[in-house]
Amino acid sequence: MRAVFASHNPHKAEQVALLLPAVELIPLDDVAPGLELEEPFDTFRENALDKARSASRATDLPAIADDSGIEVDVLGGAPGVLSARFAGEDATDEDNNRKLIRELQGVPDEQRSCRYRCVAVAVFPGGKELIAEGSCEGRVIDEARGELGFGYDPHVIPEGETRTMGEIPLEEKLAFSHRGRAFRALAAMIDAS
Ligand code: IMP
Repeated sequence: MRAVFASHNPHKAEQVALLLPAVELIPLDDVAPGLELEEPFDTFRENALDKARSASRATDLPAIADDSGIEVDVLGGAPGVLSARFAGEDATDEDNNRKLIRELQGVPDEQRSCRYRCVAVAVFPGGKELIAEGSCEGRVIDEARGELGFGYDPHVIPEGETRTMGEIPLEEKLAFSHRGRAFRALAAMIDAS
């Protein structure tokens, strides 16, 4: 199967290529240069579906997308769907991490639980839609550790680990990460469909 990957995030593209080996993923810019992918909704599911529907409509190809983010319990689930834009519209990962750590100032370790969430979808030109979810529990630490990964990874220690997500090699991380879980479930749905 060939499918357009509805994302401009190279870290996600690398991960999803490993998780969907049976799918030939076409970069969005190769088939729909300039197509804007917006995330206007307040659920991961609606945002993921909207990105994949736009890409499929623009290219007449099956489209794969995900929407993901981190939910911090003591912040009422924030930043959630706003994870990429937590510190503002053009925020960098560093800006977002700085804001997160500032908001958690004084919060003790045992109250820093969080989870990464990912909703992965496949949308087909005939209208069929497949939707899968994955999550990964962890906690947020002040100190940044590790150069691997992206986003909030240097500040997140997954459950049962002592390393941050930024210190865990990709293949190992995909075995338990939110994106690993969501895309393995999506791969099984694609196989069965
Ligand atoms: P989006 O799915 O493109 O809206 O981006 C979600 C944002 O959530 C990213 O920009 C990161 O800040 C964060 N995020 C999602 N998945 C991960 C991950 O695997 N590691 C670190 N941060 C992530």
